[in-house]
Amino acid sequence: MKFKSIKGTKDILPGEVESWQRVEDTIRRVLRAFNYREIRTPIFEQTSLFARSIGELTDIVSKEMYTFIDRSEESLTLRPEGTAATLRAFIQNNLGEQTPLTKLYYMGPMFRQERPQAGRLRQFHQFGVEALGSSSPQLDVEMMLIALTVYRELGIQQFVLKVNSVGCQQCRPAYKKKLLHALQNVQSQLSPESQARVNQNPLRVLDSKDEKDQELTRTAPLMKDHLCPECSEHFLEVQKLLQSTETPFEIDGRLVRGLDYYTKTAFEIASSALGSQDALAGGGRYDLLVEELGGKPTPGIGFAAGMERLMMVLAKVGTPSPSDLNPILYIVTTDESSRRWAFTKASSLRSKGLRVEIDYLGRSVKAQMREANRQEAQYSVVIGETELQTQHAKLKNMKTGEESLVNLDELQSALRV
Ligand code: AMP
Repeated sequence: MKFKSIKGTKDILPGEVESWQRVEDTIRRVLRAFNYREIRTPIFEQTSLFARSIGELTDIVSKEMYTFIDRSEESLTLRPEGTAATLRAFIQNNLGEQTPLTKLYYMGPMFRQERPQAGRLRQFHQFGVEALGSSSPQLDVEMMLIALTVYRELGIQQFVLKVNSVGCQQCRPAYKKKLLHALQNVQSQLSPESQARVNQNPLRVLDSKDEKDQELTRTAPLMKDHLCPECSEHFLEVQKLLQSTETPFEIDGRLVRGLDYYTKTAFEIASSALGSQDALAGGGRYDLLVEELGGKPTPGIGFAAGMERLMMVLAKVGTPSPSDLNPILYIVTTDESSRRWAFTKASSLRSKGLRVEIDYLGRSVKAQMREANRQEAQYSVVIGETELQTQHAKLKNMKTGEESLVNLDELQSALRV
């Protein structure tokens, strides 16, 4: 029998994993600069945590979660996103009592049973950032800047930052009524998906990808034009801060995160290098969520960014292959005693941080040289009986073909890294 990976999941193989590591290193470096601390939460949680935080009516909760009943009859779910668990941990561990502002980030796999397609997987990876304890618009912009800094540091320039305000509990109900009225006039002509949303979650009709839906709702009222003074001021301040940091952005009045707990700022970063699934990252303010999950009222804002999509963009903009993966030295051996010597020497050089490879398969000298070439080693050295007796060997620069006689004790200093 041949086993295969599950549909919508992917192996990240050597060759590709190095790009992931580079991306992960960049993310950590940027997050450190912005003074965020990493949090690692379990992969699975109580199902009700996600139902309560993401919302029963969302696509994620209503049809995409990997939910199962465990042996003690408890309903558990593989996390479909990172905010719910981060906030659960924040509340459970009283993190808010240790510092007035808690700045956290996470990175790891998420699970959603979506229809797999380019850029859409069932196990995918996100990095996400959350700031809890402040309602300052500076943090809204900080979130956007973090994501953009990560992309820029990785050499990605092609992206669009879209921002909007989804209002708050003061101004949204009246607006929702206006929107509902406008949508009911065209309801029967909308796509079946949007028709179903009109009553359940009318704001989501506005971000329908269906062209006809877009045309039918072209003149529908937008939240950004019906904000209360507080939300309006917050939104203006976000725009001013973006301008003051010279960050190009677009206002997209149709951008909604769709969940009731979202307040004020919503944003998305999209890349033209991606296909129809062009969203690289999305986030927003959720001033009511901590309380909704049983914590003390705490304003918060965060975003999540897809890592596979980031890798897809990187593959398009062409990142140079990391040359620091090739061995610096390949030690070619000829017999049992040289293999023993090479093993000790390699261990000692490796402990000094040098990438050294030896042969473990008892291959011929020729085959080992071929392997050294294949791995693009910078240097090779052949060790046999004579070399061990004289304690000298010829070190070969694999690029230039140049050979020089070196004392085996001085091998390390002879390698020009
Ligand atoms: P969301 O949590 O739905 O706001 O998603 C945030 C980001 O995660 C998106 O902008 C995508 O980059 C990425 N993402 C979401 N769902 C998937 C998926 N099924 N496969 C791959 N990436 C995804």
